[in-house]
Amino acid sequence: MNTKAYREWLDNMGQLTRSQRKSVLNHLNTMESQEAIIDELEQNHVHHCPHCQSERLGRWGRQSGLQRFRCRGCGKCFNALTGTPLARLRRKECWFGYSQALIEGLTVRKAAARCGVAKTTSFRWRHRFLTEVAKLKATGLTGIVEADETYFPLSFKGSRQLPRPAHHRGHAIHQRGTGEEQVPVLVQRDRHGATTDFKLPAATQNEEAPILGQVIASDAVLCTDGSASLRGAARQAGIAHRALNLSGGIRVLAGVYHIQNVNAYDSRLKTWMIRFHGVATKYLENYLGWRRGLEQWGDQVTSAVVLQAAIGRYWRFQLLTQT
Ligand SMILES: [Zn+2]
Repeated sequence: MNTKAYREWLDNMGQLTRSQRKSVLNHLNTMESQEAIIDELEQNHVHHCPHCQSERLGRWGRQSGLQRFRCRGCGKCFNALTGTPLARLRRKECWFGYSQALIEGLTVRKAAARCGVAKTTSFRWRHRFLTEVAKLKATGLTGIVEADETYFPLSFKGSRQLPRPAHHRGHAIHQRGTGEEQVPVLVQRDRHGATTDFKLPAATQNEEAPILGQVIASDAVLCTDGSASLRGAARQAGIAHRALNLSGGIRVLAGVYHIQNVNAYDSRLKTWMIRFHGVATKYLENYLGWRRGLEQWGDQVTSAVVLQAAIGRYWRFQLLTQT
């Protein structure tokens, strides 16, 4: 719009009714939000084709507000979201709001209301936003590493057909206490706060040993409540192990070996999850990742951090923590 036309447009604004002014304001806010989101998504220049890795790229118009590129290698088109869980989702202008809803741990219903989207959209977005976040797990845990098995009720919430639980995919699911079927999760946390967790088919030595071996530095000392499975797994993985005897009243060994940090983490996780009234087991890892993310990001978290994490750009968080 040239200057003259713009002035005329501005002068005509006086003729708008109040509700028209509000509508214009909403319109401008939406455009502004969408552009801010696109700036955030595109701030990392695209260097190569996600299909063939070629660096010979040409600009190829815009699509849904995003710069589109065409690869001269394979001829395919793509944008900054291609290959990410957020590709082809609509209503970009709401994504910062939705990220903020994730930070606040809002339920599907509240997040939908906050962002003005349908509940079904809110649910779909939740799991799209969390797909990459769930993959962000700490590795190389060092020093004293606390590990604990914790349990979540087996749930087919949201599934159209209930499988026969006792034979679910052939896995024997560990049962404990109430007799209700439970899904075991192995949580590990070191004294620097690096945390990871794994949903297990069963809380057994054979399931746990490879995880300990993969996650824990070889010179670390593992600390557990002395369960037979973890005791065996530590031996099998060749990791030094101190077992407490909680029922025997031994909660701390040598003044430093205890599992109070991992237990406190489990407790915060369970308390935070109460709001969801039970989560479907098939999505459990997304919820575990969501909580891990919130704990690791802490006060530094912003909706931009969550959005970047949702498209697999964890580097941004790492940059933030270095400062
Ligand atoms: Zn290509």
